[in-house]
Amino acid sequence: MRIAVLSDIHGNLPALEAVVAELRPFDEIWQLGDVVGYGPQPNEVVAFLAAEKARGVRGNHDAAAVGELDTDSFNDDARAALEWTVGELSSTTVAWLRNLPERVEIDEFTLVHGSPRDPTWEYVYAQSIARANMSRFKTQHCLVGHTHVPLAYRQNGSRVEPTQPDDRTVLELNERRSILNPGSVGQPRDGDRRACGMLLDTERMSLEWRRIDYPIERVQELMAKAGLPARLVARLGYGL
Ligand code: ZN
Repeated sequence: MRIAVLSDIHGNLPALEAVVAELRPFDEIWQLGDVVGYGPQPNEVVAFLAAEKARGVRGNHDAAAVGELDTDSFNDDARAALEWTVGELSSTTVAWLRNLPERVEIDEFTLVHGSPRDPTWEYVYAQSIARANMSRFKTQHCLVGHTHVPLAYRQNGSRVEPTQPDDRTVLELNERRSILNPGSVGQPRDGDRRACGMLLDTERMSLEWRRIDYPIERVQELMAKAGLPARLVARLGYGL
């Protein structure tokens, strides 16, 4: 099967549409949480994923948007965007978000938002954190999001080796355990403003990261019109 692995879409429909168009053909979408929050089209993004029968998990923004996580630890911009999002969500969207589990296992893959030991909050951004998490999932590989930075960590004996993928970086999966992050569709944070996506081939056991241009200005216009925080509007242009 060919799987489009997507994370941190954050209500950014033009980015989602561009990534999906680029990754087709595929059999399924697996999404790693933070479907909503920050971006201007949360209902449209959920409708798109529902129509595609995407499988996946909830992120901290999704849980907070349906009142199942308090926003004390969100920064001011994130909280303001979340309050706006809560006011926008249709009952259909709320029901879809509430149905997302924290963790899903599909064949050799565990899907979580943050980390396998703390799916809601932990960021896997350092080798020490990746090493501590390697024994915390039962499958051979774990797919994570949350950092908004594409990255792979692979176990090699007692060490954990990082790979920072670029556009069209291919990784062959083997018996080594791994933690894999596709990067963010809707708000990349590695200094590259292009949307991220990952194509996983479960027969060849290989994956490929992609970076995709999308009409950022259109999203920025919608955000400004909605009155979303200016800093969130600006950061899409920097990819930070
Ligand atoms: Zn996120």
